[in-house]
Amino acid sequence: MPPTQQSYPLGHSILPRVPADVASTRLEAFGPEGADHTSPGQRPGSPGLTAHRQTEGGGFIVRRPLPTHGLDILDPFLLIDEMGPAEYGPGEAVGAPDHPHRGFETVTYMLDGEFVHEDSAGHSGTIRPGDVQWMTAGAGIVHAEMPSSRIRKEGGRVHGFQIWINLPAKFKMTQPRYQGITAERIPKASSADGLATVRVVAGEALGASAIIDTHTPIVYQHWTLREGADVVLPLSAEHNVLVYVFGGAIRVEDRPLSDGQLGILGAGDAVHLQGAAQSSEVLLLAGVPLGEPVARYGPFVMNTEAELRQAFVDFRSGEMGAITRGARVD
Ligand code: FE
Repeated sequence: MPPTQQSYPLGHSILPRVPADVASTRLEAFGPEGADHTSPGQRPGSPGLTAHRQTEGGGFIVRRPLPTHGLDILDPFLLIDEMGPAEYGPGEAVGAPDHPHRGFETVTYMLDGEFVHEDSAGHSGTIRPGDVQWMTAGAGIVHAEMPSSRIRKEGGRVHGFQIWINLPAKFKMTQPRYQGITAERIPKASSADGLATVRVVAGEALGASAIIDTHTPIVYQHWTLREGADVVLPLSAEHNVLVYVFGGAIRVEDRPLSDGQLGILGAGDAVHLQGAAQSSEVLLLAGVPLGEPVARYGPFVMNTEAELRQAFVDFRSGEMGAITRGARVD
């Protein structure tokens, strides 16, 4: 989503080209500090990185734990935006009008408020609290992500996430795909003591398996941990694993992580989460690193500079399409 009205609607900071192997280097750099506290097989935790709060071009408030200072990518995750929480007055809510993407996936998860999505592949829908929209930009798509007309007119609370997940070279030019999953269809599970609950957007947890299809193995889970919750979640050792706290405080591998902090975990095959506040909200993300070169500029994420230049050419020539609008937007 990058909400802004600039020539390229990319609030995302323009990033230099980053070789994909930077991600694993960073993990090693962050990881060892936690090793002493870790049981065999579990993942050492990193010191928490604090998300910076910033206002996007259109006035949208985000907390962005990734990219952050000195950390451009956590392969395969390119960007994590916590949108809001923000209380908008009538006429204040802003979004991202028509803009393109190519070469990766955008995943939107709403907690409060409503966004209306429309794209050049003919998909449209309203994303309401608890809903997930998993959009594969693939070869190219033009989309608009705007607060619903009700929120724009009347104002209201907006809170959610948008995460960018890279696609491997073999899928960068795949057909665009849209998976819109309503809140009630997202599998949920609780621990036996009821202190931990999880919404499984991607991956598996506590016996629940996601219904969303992903191009590479991805874990995307929203955990709510009560005080005393204690969960050990097996996770493939091949995954890069991130834990972002957006309410309360937890312990990850016996290290504290509080609201607005991102923890990057080292090698291991399980993650140990403990609630350390009355109630905590946690996003658990994991994915197999692609290990490919990343050429990234604004809304396009490719492997080479030449592919990146071609993406701009294709967008400008209209090859990524345009949104066909009916009389009614939402
Ligand atoms: Fe977008």
